[in-house]
Amino acid sequence: MQEYEIILFYKYVHIADTQALLEHQREICTRLELKGRTIIATEGINATLEGTKEHIAAYLADYLSDPRFADTHIKRSVGTGDAFPKLSIKVRQEIVSLHLGTCDVDPNQTTGIHLKPEELHEWIHSGKEFYIVDMRNAYEHKVGQFEGSICPPMDNFRDLPKFIKSIEHLKDKVVLTVCTGGVRCEKASGYLITQGFKNVYQLDGGIVSYMEKYPNEDFKGKLYVFDQRVMMGFYTDDPKHQVIGRCEGCDGACEKFVNCVNDNCHRHFIFCDSCVNAKGKPVCPHGCTMTRRSKSVKNSFWKKITSFFSK
Ligand SMILES: [Zn+2]
Ligand SMILES: [Zn+2]
Repeated sequence: MQEYEIILFYKYVHIADTQALLEHQREICTRLELKGRTIIATEGINATLEGTKEHIAAYLADYLSDPRFADTHIKRSVGTGDAFPKLSIKVRQEIVSLHLGTCDVDPNQTTGIHLKPEELHEWIHSGKEFYIVDMRNAYEHKVGQFEGSICPPMDNFRDLPKFIKSIEHLKDKVVLTVCTGGVRCEKASGYLITQGFKNVYQLDGGIVSYMEKYPNEDFKGKLYVFDQRVMMGFYTDDPKHQVIGRCEGCDGACEKFVNCVNDNCHRHFIFCDSCVNAKGKPVCPHGCTMTRRSKSVKNSFWKKITSFFSK
């Protein structure tokens, strides 16, 4: 039986000729029958790809031989062979967008100090004073989080500037930003610096890397990934695993997400099987908040992948 592997990586590095890189990536990914999504911009590259183990190895041999990308941190997980429906490679303005307009940040110039998972582990267990700011979406924070971390009331990364106001009192404190794989923190930590925060760190390799080293320890609950089939190499059947999510219907412990079936809504929320069955289909238990179908709801699959990328 074929064994599949999924790789995730990003690299902030100046890319002078994005079109040439796009063509090379398209050629090699097509030849190796990889699927997934790659975004290229002058500020770097961000990708998640699936293929057979052999083909992924061949791809990485090529990718890592490029001196611009040689020190990229590659995160790996077990694939299914059908994690992605197709291959998409695009050139964009940014590899992850903060929607900050004119005050956007170039992580090649301004970014927080990278803190290794081992160092964070030491910080947590030594009782050091510092504040963890979770840069993921609120729904991701609901099922898994570092204890005591500050929950951003964000449903979208573009709410960041509003959120910053609520943590202004931390400007002179040690602040550590965390996100799923690290790519968001490269910008978010840089943004905090531009907003006057003086001691800004970011978790190197993201929560994924921390969980690989210290599964079910300081990060409680489940690490949300865009696709429930793709868990990043740590398991919820570990007896130490704690469920911290709550069903929106019955408030019972639950870490299962559903999408509201209302076409005008499609909200992503935690809902247990009994509540789903009681309603027949998953639908917001307290009424849908969205009334008009927004453009962004279309292509929700790609939307989810995009949001996964921006973690
Ligand atoms: Zn329930
Ligand atoms: Zn709804």
